[in-house]
Amino acid sequence: MAHEEQTLLRDSLSKSGAIWRITRKLAPVEGSKLGVCTTGKPFSAESSDWSQQGLASSSLQKTAAGTSLCQRYDEELKSRWPWVKQKFHKKMQSPVDINTDQCTFVRLPPIYFIQYWEAEGDMAILENTGHTVKLKLQPKTPIRKRPMISGGPAQGIYVFDSMHMHWGETDNNGSEHLLDGQPFSCEMHIVHYNLKYKTLENALNYFDGLLVTGFFGDAVELDNPELQEFIDDLKQIHDCNKSITVPIKPIFTFIRDCVTDQNYYCYPGSLTTPDFQECAIWIVFSKPFEISSSQLEEFRELKSSEGGKLINKNDRELQDFNDRPILFSVGEIKSIE
Ligand SMILES: [Zn+2]
Repeated sequence: MAHEEQTLLRDSLSKSGAIWRITRKLAPVEGSKLGVCTTGKPFSAESSDWSQQGLASSSLQKTAAGTSLCQRYDEELKSRWPWVKQKFHKKMQSPVDINTDQCTFVRLPPIYFIQYWEAEGDMAILENTGHTVKLKLQPKTPIRKRPMISGGPAQGIYVFDSMHMHWGETDNNGSEHLLDGQPFSCEMHIVHYNLKYKTLENALNYFDGLLVTGFFGDAVELDNPELQEFIDDLKQIHDCNKSITVPIKPIFTFIRDCVTDQNYYCYPGSLTTPDFQECAIWIVFSKPFEISSSQLEEFRELKSSEGGKLINKNDRELQDFNDRPILFSVGEIKSIE
C-alpha cells in the first residue's frame, strides 16, 4: 500500500464514522471464466453490479439495512450447541460446500491486513468457551489499535472482533467449509465487524455487518512451529470457561503465508454458531496452513460445556447453497508493514 494510502486510511480512522472507500480500477484476469467486478463493491445491497454480472441474488437484495435478519435462537439450544441440532429455515446459511465449478472468477481489489503482524505488546484473552477456543482482544483495546481488514469485497473497514477454531474427531475432517466435497482437518475463523456499524452487536443486523475470514488447516506430520505457542496455551485452558491472557502477535503469524500471494472464495452467508445471523461476507482462503496431528489433538483435549465431555468435534453441518453468488478472486494480497 502506498504511503499516501496508508495516511488516508489512518486519517479516516481518526474521524468519527469516516469510511475509506475503494474506487480504484481493476485489471481483468486472464481466463475464460472471467467476470470482472469493476467497482470493487460486489456485496453492496444498493449496487446493480450483481445483476449486471449475472450474480444477482434476490435474497441478497432483500436484506435491507436495519432489519433483523434472523430469528432468535432458543437460549437452551444455544447453550447446548453443537450437541443439539435444530432445523433452521433460512436461505443464506453457512458453512457450505464450495463448488469451484460455480465460482465466477474476478479480480477484486487487494485485501489489506492492517495491524495484523505488528501488534507487538497488545494482549488478548484466550478462552475455552465450552464450544471452541476463542481469542478476543481485551475490551479496553481502542479500535485504532485493533487489527483490521480493508479491500477485497469490503466497502470500508472491518475491525477485528475475535478468532476461533473448528475441528473434528479425526484429522480427516473438521473444517466447516468443504472444497469440492473435500473437508480439511480444521478451520480457523477471524470475525471482523463493519466499522460503520460501531459495534459487533449492531453489525449483526446488517447483511454486510461482518467479514469473516476462513483459513483451512491441513494435517501434516511435522509440528508447525508458528502454531506452537498457541497450541501450548491450550494446555492452560482445558476446563470449560477457563481463560488466560496472551500476547496477540504469535497467534497470527501462521496465516501470513496464506494471505500474501493468495486466492480466495467469497460469498454472502451467516454465522455458523448461534444465532446464525445472515450478516457475513465470507472470505475463505484457498491456501491452507499446516498443522500436525499432535497439534490437532490438543484441541480435542478441551473440555466442553456438556458435563465436561471433551470437545472432539465442533463443526456445523453443511447448509444448502441456494443459488447464491460465489466469487473466486484471483490476485495479489498485500498487507501494511
Ligand atoms: Zn466459526
